[in-house]
Amino acid sequence: MEITFLGTGVAIPQKNRVQSGMLVRLEEKPLLIDCGSGVLSHFPEAGISHTEVDTVLLSHLHLDHVADLHPLIKANWLRGSTSMKIYGPEGTEEWFLKVLEAYEYLQEEVDVDVIELVPGKEFTPEGFDCEISCAAATHSVTALAYRVTGEDGEFVYSGDTEPSREIMDLAAEADLLIHECSFPPSMKVTNHTTPNSLAGILKEYNNGIGSICLTHFYPEMRGHEREAVNYLQGYFEEEVILAEDLMKLEL
Ligand SMILES: [Zn+2]
Ligand SMILES: [Zn+2]
Repeated sequence: MEITFLGTGVAIPQKNRVQSGMLVRLEEKPLLIDCGSGVLSHFPEAGISHTEVDTVLLSHLHLDHVADLHPLIKANWLRGSTSMKIYGPEGTEEWFLKVLEAYEYLQEEVDVDVIELVPGKEFTPEGFDCEISCAAATHSVTALAYRVTGEDGEFVYSGDTEPSREIMDLAAEADLLIHECSFPPSMKVTNHTTPNSLAGILKEYNNGIGSICLTHFYPEMRGHEREAVNYLQGYFEEEVILAEDLMKLEL
């Protein structure tokens, strides 16, 4: 299993980080998780054909995680691929259709299936050999964290969240936890994570996670990345990695 970070940034524009998204290469075909602005334009640089993607998981519906989804569907249609399966939290279908409604010419042309998930749901997306389960994230809107189990390993993606027991339980014994870390150490925030808040939960719940990769960085994090890793290494013995746009991780 190969994970390519297509975007490791947030809603605020910044150099070298577009909004959120990652592509998981499984045996069968790629799975896209989140699709914020800039993700689609990173496909060529990542060496991926957008038409290969017909399945997308959304952590939540904030624009920095979904803004390029309709553009991806349009790009695929222009190249003759019209079917798409979208998995996301409650409200995904209403959001998707409302945006699609503004583009009448596209509505008739594409065949999109939206599957809404609730925390605790376990499923295998059609055409894949992996298992996916989800847990509630702690964010300002309904949001899900996902665990993806493939043949060679498993990882958890937190999406946007404060650190939580639900997500640490979901990540038990996983090879990799991809956790958001929006802000630098010592900042007081809600709905998001800092190295301090993540360390706080790791102290109680270090449940066999293989390594941690931090992503979803606000501009405030710039210049504090190493500090964040060093801080977390005080509470976590295994490797802590900083995600970069177009970085690949192999499981
Ligand atoms: Zn976000
Ligand atoms: Zn968000």
